[in-house]
Amino acid sequence: LDPLLRVENLRTYFFTEEATLRAVDDVSLEIYPGRTLGLVGESGCGKSVTALSIMRLVAPPGQIVGGKITYHDEDGVRVLTQLSEPEMRKVRGGKIAMIFQEPMTSLNPVFTVGSQILEAIRLHHREEGNRGGRISAERAKQLMIDSLKQVGIPDAEKRWRDYPHQFSGGMRQRVMIAMALACRPKLLIADEPTTALDVTIQAQILELLREIQQKQRMAILIITHDLGVVAELAHEVAVMYASKIVERAPVETLFTQPLHPYTVGLLRSRPRLGEDKGKKLATIKGNVPNPKDFPPGCKFHPRCDYCQEICRQQEPELRVLAPGHWVRCHFAGELSFDDVPTNRNNG
Ligand code: SF4
Ligand code: MG
Repeated sequence: LDPLLRVENLRTYFFTEEATLRAVDDVSLEIYPGRTLGLVGESGCGKSVTALSIMRLVAPPGQIVGGKITYHDEDGVRVLTQLSEPEMRKVRGGKIAMIFQEPMTSLNPVFTVGSQILEAIRLHHREEGNRGGRISAERAKQLMIDSLKQVGIPDAEKRWRDYPHQFSGGMRQRVMIAMALACRPKLLIADEPTTALDVTIQAQILELLREIQQKQRMAILIITHDLGVVAELAHEVAVMYASKIVERAPVETLFTQPLHPYTVGLLRSRPRLGEDKGKKLATIKGNVPNPKDFPPGCKFHPRCDYCQEICRQQEPELRVLAPGHWVRCHFAGELSFDDVPTNRNNG
């Protein structure tokens, strides 16, 4: 099975007067049809810039300086890193859609949600060109209402006339998903889509994404700092730290046999249900390094309990330890971790 999207050795740098910031440094990943890849890490690690690079939406002074992004579906192969902006717009209009933590970044406050979804539908049909041709106003309106129904907006027949601020945070997130799905994307990139929502609404949105994925065999790239979200939705996981992927594994493997000390730290610091409220959570000591001055050697070494001399001097390669399990650590497979919570479903 070919991946729908393949990212190879992606490098996205930001060029400021003082320094070159390596926001994404040699990132490779694959996303398959009908599957979800979770990209996880603390804020500032390069997750969002990876997503924006795939969409070719990195704004100056940021720039993709290396690597290749390939999109492959039944219409053929497109090398996204080589497309012109008009060609890329077609990909964004009909192949890959993106949703964000804050729906108001995609929704325009001065138009009704219905008119915004209609616009997305018309755009999609225009991009389809001779295949779909023009779409009748009546048909477009029906598709718009259907899309609101599909994401569970009650009274969609009436509520499409409302403005974004007339919806609750959770409902607004659903409207944004409806708009993203209006172009029938094969890949949905969701950047912290539930971070601003309370846990109940968060669970509903994740369930909705899972349902839509099953119905449409859509691929999802979910970007999150929350391993709970990964446990709910992802099939494969890539853990990012300081602009690089430090561990990649199938979700079950990542939760039961993590091999990178950073992944273990994330698992230990994860809040879990049923745990003593007063109990202080373990945290990873120290801070996320600033791309302005990454430490030499393994970028995690100042925070790592297993650091040896070699770690301060030499950056480890991403190595395959088992089929589908990649780790960037000099001592991967040689370390033993105590006290790692392995039940992925209790958080
Ligand atoms: Fe820790 Fe060394 Fe592995 Fe880096 S390479 S994670 S410092 S043990
Ligand atoms: Mg982010």
